[in-house]
Amino acid sequence: MRSAPLHPVARLPEEWSASLAARGERSFAAKQVFHWIHRRGVLDPGAMTNLSARLREHLAAEGLGDVVTPERVHRSEDGTRKLLLRLRDGATIETVLLPAVSGAGSRAQLDADAAAADLDDDEDDAAEENAPEGNAAPHVRVTQCISTQVGCAMGCTFCASGVAGLKRHLGPEEIAGQVLLGRAMLDEGEELRNVVYMGMGEPLHNYEATARSLRLLTHPEGINLSTRRVTVSTSGLVPEIARLGADFGGQIALAISLHASDNETRSRLMPINRKHPLDELIEALRAYPLPRRRRITIEYTLVAGQNDDPAEARRLAKLLRGLPVKINLIPMNPIEASSLGPPGLERVAAFQDVLTQAGYSCFVRRRRGDDVSAACGQLVLLGAKPKVRRALA
Ligand code: SAH
Ligand code: SF4
Repeated sequence: MRSAPLHPVARLPEEWSASLAARGERSFAAKQVFHWIHRRGVLDPGAMTNLSARLREHLAAEGLGDVVTPERVHRSEDGTRKLLLRLRDGATIETVLLPAVSGAGSRAQLDADAAAADLDDDEDDAAEENAPEGNAAPHVRVTQCISTQVGCAMGCTFCASGVAGLKRHLGPEEIAGQVLLGRAMLDEGEELRNVVYMGMGEPLHNYEATARSLRLLTHPEGINLSTRRVTVSTSGLVPEIARLGADFGGQIALAISLHASDNETRSRLMPINRKHPLDELIEALRAYPLPRRRRITIEYTLVAGQNDDPAEARRLAKLLRGLPVKINLIPMNPIEASSLGPPGLERVAAFQDVLTQAGYSCFVRRRRGDDVSAACGQLVLLGAKPKVRRALA
């Protein structure tokens, strides 16, 4: 348990019940407060019109209010919005809204354009995607990518957050608060559909806050995201993968940043591999209580000259044999602090071919919104100055 008192945005309905009952409030006030915050996205106690003045004052005194404030929004040509957010202590993080490209309904197109965000491809989903919408207003499904830390302690060599190092963990209210804000900032006709923990930071290094934010985002009285539409991405913290699996019964979608198929290469790119080497990680994936017909996403950032050799792809095919996975290849987005970069398109295609021929579903993801800034964490490192980059694909 966190020793600091829980921020009001971080409280679950049952926790509101306990704290408000102790203050002599009516029993349904707990649900009302949770609804205001998580269903309606209202964080200003003054606007919570069906609560007593006394309760509104109490909520304000407890610090209820905005936890993240948009400082800048970079809108890219493809509709992606990168939001630079300021936290109450002045630190900045980023979150990204990724609308499914127009013409969605074509699964191939979705697969080509889903960026690091992984629009799941269960069969029932595909059917739903293609279902006629009747007279309903057309809507665009949006995936939001959120951060869990300011910076990151894992030190991956190709990652802007890793190079920056860990400044601090986010609280659960700051993690869930990004989604409350993102939902409020959707364009007309858009619907928040998926959330991916793929922004700044290592979610499982901040396990308690991440787990609580998952409970908040998927709570039926709140935003009510489906657990299978929420993906936690990790660099491979083995004990916490097991914990996540146990705490949520395997319902939360899992993405693993693998990036190599042998320990030497992986340790070079990702220092965490020295603590939890590949065999341990693969064992943790086998043990994850994944529901039937669901798959773990393997993320593989291709870095020229480091992990892009076809021999590495063959080893990867062998390593993953028997695991229910889909593979996303992401050509590395160049970062300021490193001379590492992406391989050429032919090399990417050759890598993909090996995996496809070995029977894996394997897609090349381009990072969207590249015309406004590059990979995770870079917006912050650039001091919010948009940097024009050529899209990789
Ligand atoms: N810490 C978690 C989640 C955040 S990083 C993790 O590592 O999984 C989300 C994804 O972005 C990871 O797969 C990471 O490897 C990838 N990534 C980070 N920097 C990148 C870059 N410069 N180019 C391409 N992918 C990058
Ligand atoms: Fe941290 Fe993920 Fe970046 Fe590695 S890739 S430094 S784990 S944010």
